[in-house]
Amino acid sequence: MKRSTSLNRIKSADGPFDVVVIGGGASGLGAALDAAARGHSVALFEQSDFAKGTSSRSTKLVHGGVRYLQQGNISLVLEALRERGRLARNAPHLVHSQAFVIPNYSWWEGPFYGIGMKVYDQLAGKLGLSPSRHLSKKETIEKLPTVETDKLVGGVIYHDGQFDDSRLAVNLAQTAEELGAAMLNYCRCVGLVKEQDVVCGVEIHDVENDERFTVRAKSVINATGVFVDELRQMDEPEANKIIAVSQGIHFVLPKRFLPGDAAIMIPKTADGRVLFAVPWRDHVVVGTTDTPLGGYSLEPRALEEERDFVMTHACKYLAEDPTDDDVLSVFAGLRPLVKAGDGSDTAALSRDHSILISGSGLITLTGGKWTTYRKMAEDVIDQAETLAGLDHKRCQTEDMQIHGWTQSQITEGNLEPYGADAFEIRELLKAEPELAQPIHAQLPVQEAEVVWHAREEMARTVEDVLARRTRCLLLNAAASIEAAGAVAAILARELGRDTAWEAAQVADYTALARGYVYKAPESTAASA
Ligand SMILES: Cc1cc2nc3c(=O)[nH]c(=O)nc-3n(C[C@H](O)[C@H](O)[C@H](O)COP(=O)(O)OP(=O)(O)OC[C@H]3O[C@@H](n4cnc5c(N)ncnc54)[C@H](O)[C@@H]3O)c2cc1C
Repeated sequence: MKRSTSLNRIKSADGPFDVVVIGGGASGLGAALDAAARGHSVALFEQSDFAKGTSSRSTKLVHGGVRYLQQGNISLVLEALRERGRLARNAPHLVHSQAFVIPNYSWWEGPFYGIGMKVYDQLAGKLGLSPSRHLSKKETIEKLPTVETDKLVGGVIYHDGQFDDSRLAVNLAQTAEELGAAMLNYCRCVGLVKEQDVVCGVEIHDVENDERFTVRAKSVINATGVFVDELRQMDEPEANKIIAVSQGIHFVLPKRFLPGDAAIMIPKTADGRVLFAVPWRDHVVVGTTDTPLGGYSLEPRALEEERDFVMTHACKYLAEDPTDDDVLSVFAGLRPLVKAGDGSDTAALSRDHSILISGSGLITLTGGKWTTYRKMAEDVIDQAETLAGLDHKRCQTEDMQIHGWTQSQITEGNLEPYGADAFEIRELLKAEPELAQPIHAQLPVQEAEVVWHAREEMARTVEDVLARRTRCLLLNAAASIEAAGAVAAILARELGRDTAWEAAQVADYTALARGYVYKAPESTAASA
């Protein structure tokens, strides 16, 4: 996937694109892929990098949502479980089955959660992963050797999916590009083009080349996450704001805090929240929170009260209490929640995700979750076809293999998430054995991977490599800062940049990554 190929597709287009998508997160990438797979002409523009927003900051679960089950929202759970099964089939290199144990500290929790998880199994039906079952206290400790044992009476084990969110985003962009879509990062939508009050194109600022151009479109999809109201107000300055922002944060800890294969799931903390501690990439991800915020940004930061909450609960449920020094990274993400009751737009669909169509035909897709991105995309492209008078074509993505699909076992741990591309990276290593060098002693990334990111995954900056093509920023923020110079040097060589660019990249990355290094609350001013 090359940026120049996509730019050429835009510049050589001889008519309007059938579908233009704004926003390169799960929602936008899914929509672009769905439309391209149906044979429509497609262009997608992301202001920063693919998955820069919420889509790289999730808990990394492909799940039905035990919480929705507790709330009795069966249809939502059913849809998400169906999608979980499809995604596991279509991207087996990135999605795998993960065991979760609900530790029980009261006699009633065993039967209560045991029955709940049996319903979850039933809803998954043929696409189920492994059946849930009750665990004795001894079995619970075997599965979770570091769980708090004081008052422990037993547990319930069930299975859900786990994935790598930003790697899936990159693979979705590649799949869409292979189907003919123009997929561009670092291209911001700065305006909408209208004819007779109908949206018929977008104004784009190519931030990398500092160029502006207009792209004509039969339909425009606004999939900009917490930013959707900005696009809606470009369309109609008086449009009501529909988004309420809720922040969730995670800590990343060393693997010794949860040494087995199973994750811990706490369905209800003392203050009524859901908490996970999940093994991920040889580390442990602990979270999350649900904090309403008045504003939003592309780089949200954990609030002091959120850090306290996660630290207190990590200490409560893990036998060894983590200290500040054990936290390798803190990351925050923003949920775009749709407020009820905006009468100015047509709510064409309103379930977990929402599709709104403005008077001038701007289609806004928001809400939902990563797990259901494919279904959201199917629904929005059905709408776009009707609205723009495109040929109605059948959705193709239910059984579509996503770029990297392979069932072969990749033996090198660092290359596993690349799936079938691991074979290509091996070839690169054979041709240039000096690229076997790791970028940092504590980070499992070889120089060859960075070359691959620049050549084939449209990485344009040090942050693209360290935050989203690899997950170094989340796995060890401090070490990733030390690796920035090595990554900048490789990218400069690959992208034809000079030493001033390299130095600026290192400075920018260092400033950003410092915000992920955990600090004791009194020494950091939290902001979001
Ligand atoms: C803390 C947390 C944990 C979560 N955990 C899970 C989980 O475990 N499993 C799960 O299934 N779901 C999870 N979710 C939900 C899931 O992450 C989101 O539903 C999903 O990522 C939203 O994707 P999106 O594409 O709508 O938004 P985003 O990913 O935010 O994408 C929007 C994009 O639009 C771009 N953009 C904005 N304005 C413009 C413009 N003018 N021009 C061009 N581009 C623009 C932004 O840069 C951004 O990249 C979680 C969410 C949070 C907050």
